[in-house]
Amino acid sequence: MDYTKILEEIYSEITPLLSKGKVAGYIPELRRVSKDQFGMAICTNDGDEYIIGRAEKYLSIQSVSKVFTFALAYKNFGEKIWKRVGREPSGSKFNSLILLENEKGIPRNPFINPGSLVIADMLYKKYRYPLNEVLKFVRELSGNPNISFNTSVRNSELKYANINYALAYFMKSFGNIKADIPQLVDFYTSHCAIEMTCVDLARSFRLFSQQGNNPWSGEKLLTSSQAKHINAVMMTCGLYNSVGDFAYRVGIPAKSGVGGAVVGVIPEKLTIAAWAPGLDVNGNSIAAVKALELFTDKTGLSIY
Ligand code: GLU
Repeated sequence: MDYTKILEEIYSEITPLLSKGKVAGYIPELRRVSKDQFGMAICTNDGDEYIIGRAEKYLSIQSVSKVFTFALAYKNFGEKIWKRVGREPSGSKFNSLILLENEKGIPRNPFINPGSLVIADMLYKKYRYPLNEVLKFVRELSGNPNISFNTSVRNSELKYANINYALAYFMKSFGNIKADIPQLVDFYTSHCAIEMTCVDLARSFRLFSQQGNNPWSGEKLLTSSQAKHINAVMMTCGLYNSVGDFAYRVGIPAKSGVGGAVVGVIPEKLTIAAWAPGLDVNGNSIAAVKALELFTDKTGLSIY
């Protein structure tokens, strides 16, 4: 397969879409990002890599970080995590309070904000410095020791984190959050403010395309079943309120974030990260989703 040529075709086909959509508007740091940018990286399980555009530019990974925290919690606590968080798509906004009341403080899945806050609570209890552990994990997976979080993004997020505080306090009232809420929300917003490149993201997600093995050393970090489960949760819950449309158009497990990244996994074969800041109404990057759709159409690679 000539991935270089495929990436070139994709780039030229998605270029008209770069003017579409809106960049995330809830904090100034994200509002300032220029829409006219696109990057994409592919990492095969054989170790070959292909990039195009701004694939080596640092971007705000936002909700993509929820996959890393989920994987770290799952690695530590195994099936026990499912007592405190579900694994069904929510069909609601990623920070919705409504379902939580009906479902007694147990969030639908680990990728909506309340679910990720519960995961953060697990890590908070386990580690003295949970953010350091998350950073250590992504640095290990990506092979990039320079990955860090952006403090001004984190600080801005904290100023506008009222709904996340509300979600956390509400769950605490049901006994499903143990930590001190301001500290927990600080940890959560900090991991959302991590910056990585498309190359870092694609390299890291090889954990899930390689049955839970460390992408570099081959060491088993997750069991094969755990990797399968994480891919399944990405497939069913990874794209906000467009999981059905994404499954239909792209057909691979993936996770998106409001920074404009979408990172996907084709188990046993490769990983793929695309980034473009213009978002649709659900918070998914218009051009990145299209790029992944073109990739699976052109290559015939998908899980369906
Ligand atoms: N930090 C964002 C929030 O909690 C995450 C946004 C996202 O990518 O979904 O609101």
